[in-house]
Amino acid sequence: MDSKILISVEQLSRYYGHQLAVDHIDFTLSPGEVLGFLGPNGAGKSTTMQMITGNLAPSEGRIEINGIDMLDRPRQAKSDIGYLPEQPPVYRDLTVDEYLDYCARLHRVSTGKRGQAINHAKRRCGLLAVNRRLIGNLSKGYQQRVGIAQAILHNPAVVILDEPTVGLDPNQIREIRNLIRELGETHGIILSTHILPEVQATCTRVQIINEGRLVFSQSMQEIEKQLVSHVLVLETRE
Ligand code: ATP
Repeated sequence: MDSKILISVEQLSRYYGHQLAVDHIDFTLSPGEVLGFLGPNGAGKSTTMQMITGNLAPSEGRIEINGIDMLDRPRQAKSDIGYLPEQPPVYRDLTVDEYLDYCARLHRVSTGKRGQAINHAKRRCGLLAVNRRLIGNLSKGYQQRVGIAQAILHNPAVVILDEPTVGLDPNQIREIRNLIRELGETHGIILSTHILPEVQATCTRVQIINEGRLVFSQSMQEIEKQLVSHVLVLETRE
């Protein structure tokens, strides 16, 4: 596999008992891509994300992160992934700084680099003004920013965001989408969602999963080109 590819997934499958939740999917993520992983509830998005992050063992298939095989060298492969789960744990009684320091240790950021890494993540996620506040006292939008900050603390090549705007108000949704677009300039991103406008607002490519199978994959540029050509055809017909 090409080592310049950030994520390479081959024939990835996962059973729960007899139910095939993810069915032999193949895809790649290249540098500069924000990939929208779109599908209805129960389609297999979270199961796929959890396998890619190394938190759930596949039943079959291969995953490489930055050229490192997840099954052979899980620790090294995981070190290049940042992950915001669908329902992140909220440490309500910790301040933002305390929580990010705790996460930096979990991510094995060395003592000498920890302060700088935390400041960088706070700056990118707009958290400098709230660093001494208790997480439990922050709005849901700010709590999601803290979740994204912990995902980028160790400067991973890939950031995986599972349904990052669920439960937010329209203003918070706009801010988190802006943040995702900004992060896409420096990280490969997979955004798992069932909201089409979210993909349109943030992604460079969209991939649709339904009943565990990948049924569509196209760049947003190609989709827009097709839409434009259809509109032109309609216009010339009138
Ligand atoms: P949602 O948007 O609702 O989270 P999803 O696309 O993320 O949906 P998954 O959570 O991956 O879908 O679920 C895929 C299928 O696997 C569903 O039918 C679900 O019921 C099933 N499933 C998920 N987790 C488990 C589990 N731990 N045990 C058994 N079945 C599961």
